[in-house]
Amino acid sequence: MAEREGRAGNQGTATRASGLRVASVNFGGCEGCSLAFLKALPKLQGLCGEVYCPYLGTEPEGDLDILFISGSICRQDKEVIERIKELRDRAELVVALGSCAALGGVMRFARGGQEPKPEHSSYVALPVLVPVDYSLPGCPPLPTAISSLVAHIQKGNERALGLFANLAKLSKLSGFDLMDDVVLYGLCIGCGACELSCPTGAIHMVDGKPDLSPERCIRCGTCYVRCPMGRQNIVQRRVLRELDERLQEVSRSYMELLGFVAHELKNPLASAIMGLYTVKDGYLGDLSPEQRRALEAVARSLDYFQDLIKKYLSLSRIERGALEVRKVPLALRPEVVDPAIEALRRELEEKGMAVEVRIPPGMRVVADRDLLRIVYDNLLSNAIKYGKEGGHIVLEARESDDEVVLSVWNEGPGIPRDKLPLLFQKFSRLDVPSHAKKRGTGLGLFICKEIVERHGGRIWAESEEGKWAKFSFTLPKGKEERDEEDPDRRR
Ligand code: SF4
Ligand code: SF4
Repeated sequence: MAEREGRAGNQGTATRASGLRVASVNFGGCEGCSLAFLKALPKLQGLCGEVYCPYLGTEPEGDLDILFISGSICRQDKEVIERIKELRDRAELVVALGSCAALGGVMRFARGGQEPKPEHSSYVALPVLVPVDYSLPGCPPLPTAISSLVAHIQKGNERALGLFANLAKLSKLSGFDLMDDVVLYGLCIGCGACELSCPTGAIHMVDGKPDLSPERCIRCGTCYVRCPMGRQNIVQRRVLRELDERLQEVSRSYMELLGFVAHELKNPLASAIMGLYTVKDGYLGDLSPEQRRALEAVARSLDYFQDLIKKYLSLSRIERGALEVRKVPLALRPEVVDPAIEALRRELEEKGMAVEVRIPPGMRVVADRDLLRIVYDNLLSNAIKYGKEGGHIVLEARESDDEVVLSVWNEGPGIPRDKLPLLFQKFSRLDVPSHAKKRGTGLGLFICKEIVERHGGRIWAESEEGKWAKFSFTLPKGKEERDEEDPDRRR
């Protein structure tokens, strides 16, 4: 009996000694997969210690190294399911052999005109029922593919096994996918392997390119796995998925750390700023002009750090998917806009800017108060930072039937037209003279966009270079607001 080495699963295998115990079992359907295994037998016997095959009349007993399971598997057949589970427990590696076991599509989509008994949807792919290490679809599968899969397992050739491991993760594969992924992407080299391999004649080459008759496709996936470009695509998907998973993991950890650090710094920094302003504004005694100037420089730096921390906290919430939107009806001016202006009063005075609010005092919107305040804080502080010294800022709101359009306009150098689409990207810092000397994270507008979009709205920027810039966003109206305006809607 071959030595067990611990289940390799889809992580790849260690190099295996000869003497493998390999078996094939079939659970119904046609005999194509069993015959393919029989044809592979001479090569398999050269590679393995013991090979069990239905046509040899031998039943596998004890532990196995590799078990090939083929046939159409009905999830309502309890006896078969129990048998499959028992075999799975005894086998180091399980291979779903043939399209029925690998994808389950053939029986579900077969066309015969007969009443399906049990229902076609009861037929499932093997990976739905038990963990499967590798899949080898094909109707029938290629005998040479069976023997080379065993040879790759024996040599621990992870690179080659990647294709089969990736196939075990696919829940469907069909002629439609071949058309989408290979032909429409312009990857088809016109080799005709798909037409030759299709068991139902669903694919025909027309002018050197495959053409699919959808009604004949039984979703066996044979064309896809025989297509050289399709196989490449499956391997790349695995690489991309692994890279994507790793990147997401790194990004999640980074965002958690960022959120933690920003949260820990927030309160001590707020206390330090409060203490600093108490001294700077003369509440603890008079200061000399030099002392005041020095403290003003420190205050500017601390204000910047506080703004940075707020933005990193918001970014961390967005990226971790922890940004909850709790929409409630709000009085726009007293609850959001006026407090936002008050909080930036000092910056406004320092730049000698005037704010004009053209928002009806009683106007209401449906939004998350804290998040809407973040949007106004960002747009207003940008208007101050990039606006003209001594210039005007105008806050406006207008309503249409279904939404409220809110905007922040400022006099100033504006933004070049070709840079407008870049403004809302994460960490976007514009390479223009008016922005060169200003400190910023490039996060504020990205955060605004995320918040507005999570409210179901849109955000955009307009500008006339050298004169003004305007940022507008929409908030969809709540049902109650629409009913108030149009009582007919209530009926
Ligand atoms: S086109 Fe043919 S080979 Fe491809 S999935 Fe459909 S039936 Fe199978
Ligand atoms: S097997 Fe792939 S590359 Fe070859 S003709 Fe079909 S779609 Fe094109």
